[in-house]
Amino acid sequence: MARTVETIAISQEFTISRRELMLGKFDSIKGPFSMHYSAPYECGLSKAAVDSFASQVATHFGYRPGTSLTPIVEKMGGTIHIQNVLDFNRIPSGSIRVEGPARFEIFLAAHTGPARDRFTIAHELGHYVLHYLYARQNGAQIERLEAQRYGSGRVEWEANWFAAGFLMPTEQFAERYRALKGVIPLLADEFGVSVDAARIRAEFVGVR
Ligand SMILES: [Zn+2]
Repeated sequence: MARTVETIAISQEFTISRRELMLGKFDSIKGPFSMHYSAPYECGLSKAAVDSFASQVATHFGYRPGTSLTPIVEKMGGTIHIQNVLDFNRIPSGSIRVEGPARFEIFLAAHTGPARDRFTIAHELGHYVLHYLYARQNGAQIERLEAQRYGSGRVEWEANWFAAGFLMPTEQFAERYRALKGVIPLLADEFGVSVDAARIRAEFVGVR
């Protein structure tokens, strides 16, 4: 029997089921589990597509640039853990573990700055949205996902593109750029990102 899945058109191109995206903290009824985590596989979307998708996800969850990411992560069903240097055996190699839709954990290294932490969190949300939700929506057979902390290649670029689009939505960034007369450190401060990230963003948005 076909099951109706309510979907949200985040844009014309992207649709993710509300069940997957929203609060549904339903417990999985499967199991006993083999504790296997898939590695992320590139979604193949263009940089521009990932960028606008990320901005739309941010808006969808009520994120306002520069504000705390913690409530947004929680709304999406995730939790953030700060890893102590003494936590050797607490998944040292993984940066995000997705247990199911709206059930994931993000692991941050201790002793990093707030701007870097925020970019990391948004990057991990990119893995979750692009390489888990979007991938599943497109038929990927993924139950659980774990992204490595020091991954490389296109999968990591995609997560970085997502992070930039999430933290610094194009329109708002361009508007604030004009208002702040292009002073990059002020923009960085307002959007809660590093000066380098703000500078790269200004180039991408084309306001330099
Ligand atoms: Zn990553």
